[in-house]
Formats: sequence, C-alpha cells, structure tokens
Amino acid sequence: MTKFIIVTGGVLSGLGKGILTASIGNLISQGKTCATIKCDGYLNVDPGTMNPVEHGEVFVLDDGTECDMDFGHYERFVGVTSKGDWNLTMGKIFQSILEKERHGNFLGKTVQFVPHVTDEIKGRIYAIAKEERADIIFIEIGGTIGDLENGLYLEAMRQLAWEQGQDNAMFVHLSYVPIPTGVNEQKSKPTQMSVKLLNEIGIQPDVVVCRCSEYLTPAIRRKISLFCNLPEENVLTGVDVDSVYLIPGELRKQGMEKIIENKMRMKFKCSDCSTWDSLAKKMCNGHKKRVKIGICGKYTALGDSYASVVEALRHSSANLDIGMDIEMIDTEKIEKGEKVENVVGELDGVIVPGGFGNRGWEGKIEVIRYARENNMPFLGICLGLQAAVAEFSRNVCGLADANSTEMNPKTKNKVITLMDEQQSVVDMGGTMRLGAYEANLAEGIISKLYNSKKVSERHRHRYEVNPDYHKVLAEKGLVISGLSPSKTLAEFIELPKHKYFVATQAHPELKSKLEKPAPLFYGLVKAASEGK
Ligand code: GLN
Repeated sequence: MTKFIIVTGGVLSGLGKGILTASIGNLISQGKTCATIKCDGYLNVDPGTMNPVEHGEVFVLDDGTECDMDFGHYERFVGVTSKGDWNLTMGKIFQSILEKERHGNFLGKTVQFVPHVTDEIKGRIYAIAKEERADIIFIEIGGTIGDLENGLYLEAMRQLAWEQGQDNAMFVHLSYVPIPTGVNEQKSKPTQMSVKLLNEIGIQPDVVVCRCSEYLTPAIRRKISLFCNLPEENVLTGVDVDSVYLIPGELRKQGMEKIIENKMRMKFKCSDCSTWDSLAKKMCNGHKKRVKIGICGKYTALGDSYASVVEALRHSSANLDIGMDIEMIDTEKIEKGEKVENVVGELDGVIVPGGFGNRGWEGKIEVIRYARENNMPFLGICLGLQAAVAEFSRNVCGLADANSTEMNPKTKNKVITLMDEQQSVVDMGGTMRLGAYEANLAEGIISKLYNSKKVSERHRHRYEVNPDYHKVLAEKGLVISGLSPSKTLAEFIELPKHKYFVATQAHPELKSKLEKPAPLFYGLVKAASEGK
C-alpha cells in the first residue's frame, strides 16, 4: 500500500516547496522505496525549450528527460534516480487527453476537465505507484494556491486523498509568516487566508510549515492552529537557514517524522543523519580558508539558472572543509570591452558552464585563454568544453578562425560541429543528445578523480568536437582523455601540465551529492584551494 505525501504552497512563490518536499523525503525515505512527483501547471510538454533565466536550470535525468529543477533537489536530498514520467506538466496531460480523444477513447462522451483531466492526473500517479511498488510517493504541486493553472492538480489531489483514505495520504502546506517593518510582529493572516483557499477546494492540510525569518512564537502557532484546524504541534517553522541542507535537521527537531508516523500509521527507520548534518554545518562554518570561483556564463540574471553547478561547488567545499564564494560573471561584459584580467583576475578558479547561442561566447573564450595562460584552475562543462576547444585551436594550434558552427556556420575551421544524428532534427523539444551516456577514460587527472576508467554522466547537447580535429589538438598537447564507446565523441579533455584544466561534454553537476561530490568539481575546488 503506497502512502502519498502531497506538498502545496501558499501566499507567494519562491518559499522553497521543492526543498521542503525534498527535505521531508530526506527524513523518511531510508529503507523505503520512494518516488518524487512534480506537477507543473504550464502548457510546455517539458521545460527543455524554456530560457533558464525564466524557469531556472533545466534538469536532465538518466533517461534523458528534461525536467523541472526541483528534480535536482529530490535527487540530491532523497537519493532517488528519477524518471521522466515523474514530472507531470499540463502540456503532457493535455497532449495525451487530446490524443485519446482523437483516437476515440472517449467516444460518445463530452471530454471535460473533471473527470477526464483529473482522472488522467490520478491515473499517472497511480501508475507510478504501481510500477515503482512505492512505499511513499511525494507529490509537489507547482505554483501557489489560488493560481488558476494548478487548480486541476489540486482537485485531482483532493480526489486521490479521498480514494486512498485517512491513513494513506496527507497534505503539507508551505506558507509564509511575515514580520512587517515597524510592526515587528509575526503575522498569521496570509497563512490563514491560504489555508482557507485550500479548504474551499476541499483540502485540509495536516501540517503547515511557515517560512519565517525567526521561529514562530507559541502565540502565533496557537492562532494558526485555531484558525486552520490543526494541532499546534503540526504548525512548524521553515526558519531561514544559511544552507538548505540544514532543513531536514530543522524539520526533525520540530517533530516532522513523528507527525507523519502518527498520521500515516507507519514506522520510519531512525535514520543516521550525522554525516549529512555535519557536512551541512561545514557549509556554513566561517572558514578561514576560502576559495572564490567564478561561474562565467550568460544566464546570470537568475541565480537558479546554474543551480546544480552551484550545488556541486558547495558539496565539494563542504567535503574539503573550506569556504566557498561564488561569483556569477556575465561574459558578455568582456565582449563589451571589460578586460578579462579585471573580470576574473582575482578569482581562484573559473567554470564555464553549459549554454546555447552566441551571446557571451567570445567572452567565455577569453576567460578560458586567461585561465590556460595563467595556470588558473578551469572546469568547462558542455559548452565550456566546446569553448575550450575553440580557444585552444585558435591560440595554440594557430587556427585563427576556429569556431563552433553553432556560433558561425561559415567558419573555415569548424572545430565544433553538429553531431551526425542531429543533422536531420527539425523539432526543438526533447531532441538533443540527452541523458546518461558512458565514456571510457584514459589514465590522467580525470580518471584519477573518478577513480575509474569507465564513467557515466548525463548529457544535453547537439554539437561535438569535430573528430577531424582530434589529431591536431592532441599533437599540440590537448589530451582527449575520455571518449564515447564508439571512440568518436570527445567526452573529456585535459591539459596535463596545467594546474587544473579540465572539461567535459557532459553535465557532471547533475549527479553531485552532498556526501559524494561530482569528482571534477571536487578537483577544481581542491586545485583552487592549493597554496592558499
Ligand atoms: N549549445 C551546445 C550544444 O548544443 C552546448 C549545450 C550545453 O552546454 N548544454 O552542443
């Protein structure tokens, strides 16, 4: 029998529903089979075609699904390997409803939001529960209560809870308790209002977690308890913390496990969280030894655009027990005339992350040239590898016009070209080389960091290093140290004599965990800290 924990959010967006869902999972998933489902209200089939500045990072799963960045939180906190079906979007739901309608599945019936759309939503969730033989399913409803676009999901959840019965489904609602300036008092009204909205649609939360800059006072908990129909001990604080990795511990301290145990009539393993908690604390320590790493991209307007890159850096710094300062650098400013040494000269290391399109590309190449020439630790990810190859081709191999055909299709030295399988692709959605692919590593810095000759990392790209140039690059000292099993795709490169000059066509940040940082990030941070 599967238990369902449904997380909703009220008052305003950005309170951290994804982190809350993931943290509850972190607390109670040990020894249990779990799945984490996210319900998004938008009409895109998946977020793969959305600008990361609008929607945050696009997270890629082993199976190649491009999905919501909350899956990054789930995988990092709950330790599950998610599947594409676990990300529901209204795009997917409507697509399949319309296909079924055309196919004649509803013959004779008027196709309606209720029951057809709500049944489709529940049906998909029940199918996951069955397929995974899940003990617990976590379901996060995107958006904020009152949004038009998540209304159908909420109705489906109301029905699901009713169908499953008291002991098998529960609702956790994340709300907000402001302390207005001048009033200097915690205010419960926004929470009351958002729970009222939930009640109107027939949902009674079992737990309310209130984001607040300080712990809720007993008086405010009493008030929320009285007006929102739930015991005081079920009103928790989602207190502001220095690191999101401290949140599972916060919830544990406030009795979340007990509340779930009592409601669901199930027992959880008393999990050993000492390693997790101590690493989380290390992230927040006031370290004397600190490193400053620049993320040199173009989606810098939104912190979430490079979410997993940032997390991978934090995981590495916690494990090395050193402080981490991260600077977001828009490489377009180098193209507009700022001197590269003024932009990155003070840093201990640089990352050129994944990306698409021309803007900022030449600036990235300049950053890489600076890092290579000044022995500054550098990690290139996906587009970062492609930029490193273009830079090396131009400045070391003497191919002055070397470029990626993504940036200049007419260049003579096409060192980065569209992969063969991509030549005939017309549709933009879900058509890149996506998901986990293996690579074989030669002896070197990278294989040492992975401690293996065979690795599997997740991918999301259309272009590759042109195999015609592998030889020229190698002759000039660039080691292509990781190849696809077909031996045609350059998956990893390194410069052996450099302090740390490493790049990969993959996105290793997507699999980084607090207790097991992505090796290439760990290597970067370690190299950046040496001699400090
Ligand atoms: N734009 C490049 C490609 O499609 C790199 C993609 C990425 O960095 N994720 O190959």
